[in-house]
Amino acid sequence: MSMVKEALRTKETETNRGRTVAGIVNSIETLEGGGFLVRRPFPKAAFSDFDPFLLLDEMGPMDVAPGEAKGAPDHPHRGFETVTYMLSGDMEHKDSSGRAGRLRPGDVQWMTAGAGVVHAEMPSAEFMRTGGRMHGFQLWVNLPQRDKMIKPRYQEIPSSQIPKATSADGLVSVSVIAGEAMGEKAVIETRTPIIYLHYRIKPGGVVNEQVPRAFNAFAYVVDGAGLFGVEGERGADGQMIMFAPDGDVVRIENPTDATANLNVLVIAGVPLNEPIARYGPFVMNTEAEIHQAFEDYRRGRMGAIES
Ligand code: FE
Repeated sequence: MSMVKEALRTKETETNRGRTVAGIVNSIETLEGGGFLVRRPFPKAAFSDFDPFLLLDEMGPMDVAPGEAKGAPDHPHRGFETVTYMLSGDMEHKDSSGRAGRLRPGDVQWMTAGAGVVHAEMPSAEFMRTGGRMHGFQLWVNLPQRDKMIKPRYQEIPSSQIPKATSADGLVSVSVIAGEAMGEKAVIETRTPIIYLHYRIKPGGVVNEQVPRAFNAFAYVVDGAGLFGVEGERGADGQMIMFAPDGDVVRIENPTDATANLNVLVIAGVPLNEPIARYGPFVMNTEAEIHQAFEDYRRGRMGAIES
């Protein structure tokens, strides 16, 4: 074999190497906002963030009686992005710049809080009246230092505009919220390279997702159970599977003998490797910047919601 061929083969092997699983994290259950239940793999004691991600909350799934739906009334954010993805039920959003919108199942709101917004995330009056099943996700994506004080931006993408694809064998389908998968490219723009995919995998289906080694990557099981990484470690409903940065492919399999579909989020991003100073709804680089955020909020510099 020529040296060139040998070099090419080595390169191919290296770029198709499967990642192993670095750890499996159980979610804690906690109350958020006005008192709705979330399952949260992070942050928690001894696991504060997964650079560049600061938080993942699974809201529900829960069946809410009429009049019992809860949300998160007026609160500020600065220095990062909140990504809301609804699967069931709805969420109305209002903010200090006068913006308002409603998220229905499959819709995504990617909010770049930047220098600051004050917003409310509440169930719609209709959902409040009827009750029903509430299920959704909120992911917090950190902003690099250079972007923390940028002008707030919203990307609100209805389900119909989220790119989707199904494998030739029909066993795997994906919604591409950020990044790309199965030949589909996301419509949402991110400040740093981010991958956010929602896979639905029938029994016997396998995903081999290209995730460059420079990305921190994890999966979160929404429903069902599956085998993760080259060694096929088992992960189930409510668990976060962290992949090691030792390959370029994330492998997820729903075994042939499974009785349920595997419903899983794959989330990855290039770590910022910057200091994190964080308090509640503010995530900056230094304590002084956190104090400044509180001061600016207190003085109304992030605005207020007109009622
Ligand atoms: Fe919020």
